[in-house]
Amino acid sequence: TVYGRQLVKSFGHRTVLQDVDLDIESGEICCLIGPSGSGKSTLLRCVNGLEKVDSGILRVNGEDLGYEETDTQYRPLSKKQVAAQRTQIGMVFQHFNLFPNMTALNNVMSGLVLVKRVRKQAAAEQARSLLAQVGLDGHENHYPSALSGGQQQRVAIARALAMDPSVMLFDEPTSALDPELVGEVLGVMQQLAEKGMTMLVATHEMGFAREVADSLMFMCAGRTVEYGDAREVLSNPREQRTQQFLEKVL
Ligand code: ATP
Ligand code: MG
Repeated sequence: TVYGRQLVKSFGHRTVLQDVDLDIESGEICCLIGPSGSGKSTLLRCVNGLEKVDSGILRVNGEDLGYEETDTQYRPLSKKQVAAQRTQIGMVFQHFNLFPNMTALNNVMSGLVLVKRVRKQAAAEQARSLLAQVGLDGHENHYPSALSGGQQQRVAIARALAMDPSVMLFDEPTSALDPELVGEVLGVMQQLAEKGMTMLVATHEMGFAREVADSLMFMCAGRTVEYGDAREVLSNPREQRTQQFLEKVL
């Protein structure tokens, strides 16, 4: 689960998130839409712990991100504790961010070996099975440069899944892909959704939002304009700004 209340984030004097609330139940798929610069990536980066919110409450699976609450105080976690917390939260980026000097198998294995301290052979086995799960058996020994964008993104998904996260965050995972490769990545995401993964997905793919999302948030200039049942927001947007945005992207 992801629980956010009145999240605020600024860069310098520029406020990028203002009073954003977020409620994602276990197994729920939430899509995040909005124009460029509305704060989607920043919100995902906060939920992932890559950025720290300035104020508000942000909990993943009931744990405050970056803090622990004791009887007497609220204190920051150590780097090691933060790292452990972050392994619960998988993230997939627009530009894949694979390690270019590693094969697909090693990309998926690396976190298992380096972070989870799994023995190499067991890690390789697990990585093979994850690559098969995203439709990439036979590509284990390929380097990213020898894979299509859609294949690279599926390796990135397998790599994130290797950490056994309880929440997966996707930041426009298909925006950098040629149109004919979008479907294979959305297909893998849909499978994940059907298996019960909890997901927060920033996307412009309205078909995916309509078919797969449970809830949908429309953001504009760092604020939530509309947030609710995905089909309801898409078919019956209440706010004029949502209507205008949807007219442009649908
Ligand atoms: P896009 O659809 O283009 O990806 P977005 O909705 O993901 O947009 P963000 O990337 O979250 O938007 O950016 C929101 C605002 O925050 C923008 O005005 C951006 O310039 C600003 N911003 C983001 N990251 C930083 C940073 N590290 N330092 C300063 N400003 C930033
Ligand atoms: Mg973005």
